[in-house]
Amino acid sequence: MTIPSFETIQSYLTIFTAVTGALLAALWISLVIWAFRDMRARSRDPFAQLLAALVVAALPVVGIIIYLILRPRETLAEAYERALEEEALLQEIEERPRCPGCSRTTESNWLLCPYCHTRLKKACQDCNSLLELQWNICPFCGNHHIDPYQAEAGGGTAVPTNGNITPPLQESETTT
Ligand SMILES: [Zn+2]
Ligand SMILES: [Zn+2]
Repeated sequence: MTIPSFETIQSYLTIFTAVTGALLAALWISLVIWAFRDMRARSRDPFAQLLAALVVAALPVVGIIIYLILRPRETLAEAYERALEEEALLQEIEERPRCPGCSRTTESNWLLCPYCHTRLKKACQDCNSLLELQWNICPFCGNHHIDPYQAEAGGGTAVPTNGNITPPLQESETTT
């Protein structure tokens, strides 16, 4: 086996250095592009996008670490999604029915407010469906003989204890 000449070793070294340099340069450029794109997804500010690319470009290895530490936590898409979720949650809270007497939130299937005993709904005489107090017709069974506010007039603050939600109106009607 012949010992390779100094020129051969030198030429090998040159090729190796060139290839390594080219690979590192490609990695460096792709990191700069990645930082720019990543920042663009996280910030609308063109200055911030440029600054991120410049930091990564100026400090080849440290720059990317600094960028990863300092970049905004959320992307714009994530922030938008979170804002939508918060808005939906807020709307849900606002849309929950409230007691007209004490303004506490109530459930839509409550007959009376458990806090101040204000009547919230009345029950249909025929099908026991819960109706709004001002309705004079039952949308579930077509009962026409429901007087508005009749349920309230028939003893508004009495809380039924056995779950029987038939208003006192039924008794008066059966007698007439
Ligand atoms: Zn109340
Ligand atoms: Zn009914």
